[in-house]
Formats: sequence, C-alpha cells, structure tokens
Amino acid sequence: MPIDPQFKTTRKMVGLHHGLEVWGPVEPPTKLGIHGSIVAIDLDLCYGCLKCMEVCTVDVFEKVQTPKHPVSTIKVDSFRENDCFMCLLCEIVCPVDAILVDKGLSQGDTLRALLDS
Ligand code: SF4
Ligand code: SF4
Repeated sequence: MPIDPQFKTTRKMVGLHHGLEVWGPVEPPTKLGIHGSIVAIDLDLCYGCLKCMEVCTVDVFEKVQTPKHPVSTIKVDSFRENDCFMCLLCEIVCPVDAILVDKGLSQGDTLRALLDS
C-alpha cells in the first residue's frame, strides 16, 4: 500500500521533527507516521534502501536511525524539502511508494508530466 495521497486531510499534524511536519498517528518506536509536507515520506513504509537519496541532486534527504521499527532501522527524512525542485525522481524510484511530492507547489513541467505526455 503506497503513502496515502490524501494524508493532509485524513491524518492530523501532531508535531515537528527538526522542522518537518509529522502526520500521525505516531507511537514510537514502532509507528513513526508521515514526515514532511512538500516531500512527504511515510516512514512506516520506508525500508531504508536509500534510492531516493541517490537520485536527488539537491540533497533533500538524510539518513536517520529508527531503532526497533519493525520494517527497518534505517530510513530517510526530507530535512531539506524546501530545496526540492519537483523532478519527481525520488517518487519514481521508491520501491514501496513511500514518497509523495506536493505537485501543487510545482511551478513548471515535472519529470512525471514529461514522462506521461
Ligand atoms: S522531487 Fe527531485 S528534487 Fe525533489 S526531493 Fe525528489 S529527487 Fe529531490
Ligand atoms: S526510496 Fe523509498 S524505501 Fe528507499 S529510502 Fe527512500 S523512501 Fe525509503
């Protein structure tokens, strides 16, 4: 199951993690919720493959330790989501569809739009 595309209406913002909005429910260490708003990551889906980090040319992502999480003990957070330029490569490469980039904030053509055309 991919990240919920409606999470901003179906979930509640329960706090901040290093400036990133966190969308609950959150019950650490086993349930971490969705982190971020521009580049949102469902941390309960992410299994820490780091493919998104590898493709992002502006270093939006950072590796984080998540001890005792049932899926993985390494994940990523989008700490520099404000630097995102909406290329959508991270969404495309994520094997578990854990990332959702807010296309509403895009100013121009995105890679996905180009691929779909
Ligand atoms: S959409 Fe592109 S620029 Fe934005 S976080 Fe993903 S890979 Fe980086
Ligand atoms: S590509 Fe997906 S599963 Fe892999 S680290 Fe990034 S968010 Fe997690």
